[in-house]
Amino acid sequence: MWQALRVGIVDGLEEISVQLKGSYMMNGKIPISGSFTVKCIEGEIRVTTGEKTFTSNREISFIASKKANFSLGDVTVGKGFHWERKKKQFFSGNLILKKRRDGLLCAINEIDLEEYIKSVISSEMNACSPLEFLKAQAIAARSWIFSRIKKKKKRKKENEHEKMEEGEIMRIYGNEEHELFDVCADDHCQRYYGITKFASEEVEIAVEETRGLVLMYGKSLCDTRYSKCCGGITEEFSTAWDEKKVPYLKSLADSKWDIPPLRTESDVERWVNSSPHVFCNVKHRGSISKILSAMDLKTEEFFRWKVSLSSEELEELIRRKTGVEIGEIKNIQPLSRGPSGRIKRLLLEGSKGRLVVGKELEIRRVLSQSHLLSSAFIVKKDLNKKGHLRAIEVLGAGWGHGVGMCQIGAANMAFMGYNFREILKHYFKGTRIVNLYEKEI
Ligand SMILES: [Zn+2]
Ligand SMILES: [Zn+2]
Repeated sequence: MWQALRVGIVDGLEEISVQLKGSYMMNGKIPISGSFTVKCIEGEIRVTTGEKTFTSNREISFIASKKANFSLGDVTVGKGFHWERKKKQFFSGNLILKKRRDGLLCAINEIDLEEYIKSVISSEMNACSPLEFLKAQAIAARSWIFSRIKKKKKRKKENEHEKMEEGEIMRIYGNEEHELFDVCADDHCQRYYGITKFASEEVEIAVEETRGLVLMYGKSLCDTRYSKCCGGITEEFSTAWDEKKVPYLKSLADSKWDIPPLRTESDVERWVNSSPHVFCNVKHRGSISKILSAMDLKTEEFFRWKVSLSSEELEELIRRKTGVEIGEIKNIQPLSRGPSGRIKRLLLEGSKGRLVVGKELEIRRVLSQSHLLSSAFIVKKDLNKKGHLRAIEVLGAGWGHGVGMCQIGAANMAFMGYNFREILKHYFKGTRIVNLYEKEI
């Protein structure tokens, strides 16, 4: 069964440079290969190769022959995050260029879903991670993508990703649907860097041995979330996204033993200053280098971390990131937290006003040039003699939203001898594994 997936690679450009290696068929009838530029002029997509120009007012497809691949000009990866960079990337499968409503171009890679998962795993994590972890990751990625496609078909009537009230910014990221394709190629959906990242033999095995396997809860396909490192306790769905309870995305201790949820500010303070014995507290750097991708390895401290900001830096960030002027910063205070200590609503008080910011990703975005590693943090205030805030020190735990599977914890479980079924059972309670392509197993 060939399940095609449409992945948005670049979106919103006036011009795209394309390189086709091998033979392609343009719009199903014109053989084409080599380099050319595509522009959108006067509402038309124009492909110019040598003397010839082909136009379309909606989309142009390039259907790949076997072993053909294509590359596009510089593609931005890690958009808005601290690992943002431009990369030349290569893709297998078909290329589709579409005109957006605003007249800009969008490049889509149409690819077999199983091939897509191989690339996602190689882009998300180090392909040398233990096999059982790669299998768990393959199933989580596959379940997420199928539930995403299913949701898209239902299509929400109202856009509920942003709720603004006077003095309050509550943003939820990751819920927005993509109009022209199923998923984007960046962290917003799942990292997909084409075939630039060649899948290792282990990744091939992990995806093939779990072919079609997904997680189900009751009769529904699981919207399996995962992030780099929970910090020791995983987070609830509603701290990052909509206010609803997802039974298989409950907060849990990332260990063999129970750890009570963090309820008070002093619980969180003790927590970020501790080094609990949990699956994702991997002290051995050699193990970490086998788990994380080369790009993520640049982030050295993530289980427990520290960031310092002067009050001027903080004021400038708030002004620039929120567009709200609260003046001289006086106070910064968590109003509500999830069970892993991740802040859901944060109060920022200044000489000219106050602002409440949420949810977890928006808090991370506002308090950093790129993003803080997580919103599970405490703030140590440095006051001058007059009691004015001079600087803050942010002490935090974990990396990412912390909901669902903790990737570093899961990889470490695999190092410890757990198999992929045990790993998925640990992070997604009450779920079962089902083969979507065949009958139930
Ligand atoms: Zn996306
Ligand atoms: Zn963890």
